[in-house]
Amino acid sequence: MEGGYQRIEHLGEGTYAMVFKGRSPKGEIVALKEIQLDPEEGAPSTAIREISLMKELDHENVLKLLDVVHTETKLMLVFEYMDKDLKRYMDSVGNRGALPPQTIKVLMYQMLKGIKYCHDMRVLHRDLKPQNLLINSRNQLKLGDFGLARAVGIPVNTFSNEVVTLWYRAPDVLLGSRNYDSAIDIWSAGCIMAEMYTGRPLFAGSCNDDQLLKIFRVMGTPTEATWPGVSSMANWKSNFPPYPPTRLEQHLPQMEPLAIDLLKNLLVYEPSGRWDAGRCLSHPYFRDLWQPAPQHALQLPVQHPDQHQQQMQLQQLLLQQQQQQQQQQQQHQQLSHHQQQQHQQQLQLQQLLFQQHQQQQLNHHQQHQQQQQLHHHQQQQQHPAWHRPT
Ligand code: AMP
Repeated sequence: MEGGYQRIEHLGEGTYAMVFKGRSPKGEIVALKEIQLDPEEGAPSTAIREISLMKELDHENVLKLLDVVHTETKLMLVFEYMDKDLKRYMDSVGNRGALPPQTIKVLMYQMLKGIKYCHDMRVLHRDLKPQNLLINSRNQLKLGDFGLARAVGIPVNTFSNEVVTLWYRAPDVLLGSRNYDSAIDIWSAGCIMAEMYTGRPLFAGSCNDDQLLKIFRVMGTPTEATWPGVSSMANWKSNFPPYPPTRLEQHLPQMEPLAIDLLKNLLVYEPSGRWDAGRCLSHPYFRDLWQPAPQHALQLPVQHPDQHQQQMQLQQLLLQQQQQQQQQQQQHQQLSHHQQQQHQQQLQLQQLLFQQHQQQQLNHHQQHQQQQQLHHHQQQQQHPAWHRPT
């Protein structure tokens, strides 16, 4: 196997590649992402250059690229191994896919921290979606594939020939803008946030125009007044139906007011109007994650998220502790059920023993009577005179 890495099992198929669980030459469990190359062209030099840049990314909320193995026919990216992607996490933990509000907040905070770090490093994702947000057993979220779209380009079809999803794509990209900037990842983050609350994609379009219409129906069809320059974009059509804007809270009644307020700053038509990741992290929606403990919330001054890496770890630790406590409680309940069963069995045994004892006594009494009668009978036969009536 290439570079001494061994495949263990097939994990899934993504936009670019087949993904396997594997083992490194040192025996570590890793994820192997195998990108097939055009046999004639090999790996384009730009891709190799971009991928080497991805190796430099080092943040707790960004999936670590550990190694790159390059052969004539394929490019194998070796990543740290994670348990689930957000889609599978929502399906397994959520209520029909919808997650509890506090879990969403912790996941959003981690996602935005990862985005901020990459944007600060001048790397865009361009294709953020629940499938490339990965979660490990410690509830840590990490962004996968950061920089890969730039390195390899976003293909129309995935490796397994499915159409690449457009559900998280920003309206400026759908309308044909080529001025990609960090705001396109912020739009995707907003769509993912709404989906975590409902369990369903916010805008599930089937093709480029349908995707735009799904957005327009909720946010209103943009006009030159609401988005200057929109009508001169490459994919703009003058016959787009003129939908009036609706209120986001109407579509997302399960979101608390602060969450809706943040979302409104992510889902903004004009890219320059969308908040950047750093500003999002300072939104009061996240206030309880900035504090070391919620009960001190009123006494402690609000601190900036940059200083709160440790507090975030604390929050994760608290979440893990809560989960452990729940497990312990469940075990305790199971144990007491088991103890009750044992107690009942003991009672039944005692009753059985008591019945046996009574039966024995009865038998004993009957035997005694029979012996007495026998004795009486024998005496009658031996000394008939004693028993003759006078
Ligand atoms: P992707 O190409 O990133 O969309 O990956 C396809 C699927 O492979 C994902 O939906 C995950 O379920 C799985 N996967 C990707 N990266 C990893 C990883 N580092 N650890 C575990 N599973 C992964």
